[in-house]
Amino acid sequence: MLIIGPPGSGKGTQAERISERLGVVAISTGDIFRANVKGETPLGIEAKKYMDAGDFVPDSVTNNMVRDRLSQSDVENGFLLDGYPRTTAQVDYLDQILAEGEQELDVVLQLTADDEELVARLLGRAKETGRSDDNETVIRHRLDLYHEQTEAVVAKYAERGILTQVDGIGGIDEVTDRVLTAIESAKAV
Ligand code: AMP
Repeated sequence: MLIIGPPGSGKGTQAERISERLGVVAISTGDIFRANVKGETPLGIEAKKYMDAGDFVPDSVTNNMVRDRLSQSDVENGFLLDGYPRTTAQVDYLDQILAEGEQELDVVLQLTADDEELVARLLGRAKETGRSDDNETVIRHRLDLYHEQTEAVVAKYAERGILTQVDGIGGIDEVTDRVLTAIESAKAV
């Protein structure tokens, strides 16, 4: 499965909940990058400059990282990718990895929310977590990139008939209920 959504849509939170409920491992590229930044690894040092500016980390770094992660044994019974792919080039790369492993995506879930709601949420989160990419200029840039690049990813999966959209506005539990219902009905198709 994939979970796709604009910054601030709660995809990380929902991904963790789906992972617990369905017993599939959740893999967040943003979390992997942040762990590397914290550990000051070469990957983290490289990624940080892009993340702080709200830019995408280059595919040369991101794709290999995802390939490595998906080669680990805990993904054998399925996985939920959060935050990847974000560009159509990443879709092509993921297609290759999956084809090599004779795997297929079952469901692509998109969380939707209005931009102004997202900016307000993210500014709130900035106060709580102090994430270095949660200031208004960077937030708006991340949203622009989502519209410019990631919506094309969503369109690709819609064409393939595996896209399910869920309204991300509401309480966390309410959205989780919607998400789980949407996954159940998507799997039943
Ligand atoms: P997230 O936690 O998903 O919002 O990701 C935080 C940041 O990590 C993004 O703003 C990007 O700088 C970087 N990042 C995460 N996933 C990707 C990806 N698939 N491609 C490029 N950069 C990414």
